[in-house]
Amino acid sequence: MGTLVGVTLYARNAAEARAAFERAFARIAYIDALLSDYRADSEVSRLSTTPITISRELETVLRFARRVSEASQGAFDVTVGPLTRLWREKRAFTDDAKALVNWRDLHVENGKAWFAKPGMRVDLGAIGKGFAADEAARAAGVASVLIAASGDIVCREAPPGEKGWRVEAAGKVLTLRHAAVSTSGDSRQFFERDGKRYSHIIDPRVGAAMTTELEVSVVARNGLTADALATTLRVSGDASVLKRFAARRA
Ligand code: AMP
Ligand code: MG
Repeated sequence: MGTLVGVTLYARNAAEARAAFERAFARIAYIDALLSDYRADSEVSRLSTTPITISRELETVLRFARRVSEASQGAFDVTVGPLTRLWREKRAFTDDAKALVNWRDLHVENGKAWFAKPGMRVDLGAIGKGFAADEAARAAGVASVLIAASGDIVCREAPPGEKGWRVEAAGKVLTLRHAAVSTSGDSRQFFERDGKRYSHIIDPRVGAAMTTELEVSVVARNGLTADALATTLRVSGDASVLKRFAARRA
């Protein structure tokens, strides 16, 4: 996933702590091997127009992504891969690449997934870290654990004797337990040309990198939700997405 992941946890002794760290990091390595589009052999990189059997984990992420795409009317779209790839490699966009981006053309059914058009690509950069943090927190197997995958933080039970984990987001110190917070913005990742700042976040509906400066933090029940919704709001700048998302959920 191209990021550093920090694990903080409470255990009764050093051996228990070590075992918990090992389980958490093993889970992250496993999720990374499934979801990373930087790895040619990952499950996500093997998607094509021919249906392939996918893991329960990838299915969970793709189904969730679809719900967020529907609620955001395409502001969030994990099929943005052809555009993010061009942007990373050439700092350019093409109409051909934009024509391949459409969440409706990614099918997930009965444990299989496939694209409607050749040349499509999935990029889970906006959702995978939150999901990996959820999974690592669960895999650690201790009550009190915090996983921080750069801007995506997942907290379980509070540290002993505390109300919650103190986490900084949007210039505030939050006290969280059994919750996640994700921040999406450009303070670390951007590109400047002719005095203009281009985000690593793309508006798939326009086929261009965002140039507005905005940083959004979302607190949610889990990392999957916080991560996806933070990116969505970074793109759409419109909180009514949250209402539509909640309505779809009910
Ligand atoms: P995040 O830091 O969670 O906001 O995710 C940003 C990453 O998500 C980018 O670096 C791209 O890999 C990917 N991405 C960019 N634009 C979008 C978009 N509109 N919808 C979904 N993923 C995107
Ligand atoms: Mg995100």
